[in-house]
Amino acid sequence: MPTDRSAGREPGFPRTILFDLDDTLFDHSLTCRAALVAVRRRYGALRGRPLDELWIEYDRLLGVLHREVQLGHRSSEDARAERFERLAAWNRRPVAPAAAREMSDAYRALYLRLRRPVPGAPEAVRRLGERARIGVVTNNTLAEQRDKLEFLGLDRRVDFLVASAEVGVAKPDVRIFREALARAGTPAAETVMIGDAWESDILGARAAGLRAVWFNRFRRPRPTADDVPEFQSFRPLGELERRIGAG
Ligand SMILES: [Mg+2]
Repeated sequence: MPTDRSAGREPGFPRTILFDLDDTLFDHSLTCRAALVAVRRRYGALRGRPLDELWIEYDRLLGVLHREVQLGHRSSEDARAERFERLAAWNRRPVAPAAAREMSDAYRALYLRLRRPVPGAPEAVRRLGERARIGVVTNNTLAEQRDKLEFLGLDRRVDFLVASAEVGVAKPDVRIFREALARAGTPAAETVMIGDAWESDILGARAAGLRAVWFNRFRRPRPTADDVPEFQSFRPLGELERRIGAG
């Protein structure tokens, strides 16, 4: 376990830093897209339309079906198989449920093989972990997110992991942030949330009284004009450290 890093804490620097996991530390969307490209080469049911159109529908279905998974109401395997069944039907090349499951299993194997960290993120967490407690707050099942942390080499570097399926509420619900604060043992004023999703991570954290730093990797337009600090890359780390410390 980490030592008590709050003893010699630096003024202005938070005692706890919370991170989102998917698309903040773990490169979820790019891994999904790479796995979809690979599985499409194997299955005609996924061909016939431009890749970009297929990806947009896939990503939409991922969002729709993930809601039940993140609240713990449904297994990832089930949701994934239905995603492929619905994708093939949307593509006007429908498949039977067993064939959808086969595609889904092939996709999962490819996803595991192609997965990757967000560049610089694991090193950043290790470095920041020398200055503050580190928590991860994420919308998914505990088992799946633990596995991702292990893949990133961060399972022993993160002090605690709060997964929505375990808590029963998902970001942006303030209750998941309160749960994270309880695990951290630090007040909201001394805790910062870092994430890529404006509504879930930024608005959710602020509603719970935390400061938030937006990871805007793809330089998207800011949804509202306000004072939320942002950064585009974990490299160099100094940029993020300045945003975190500017409380
Ligand atoms: Mg995210």
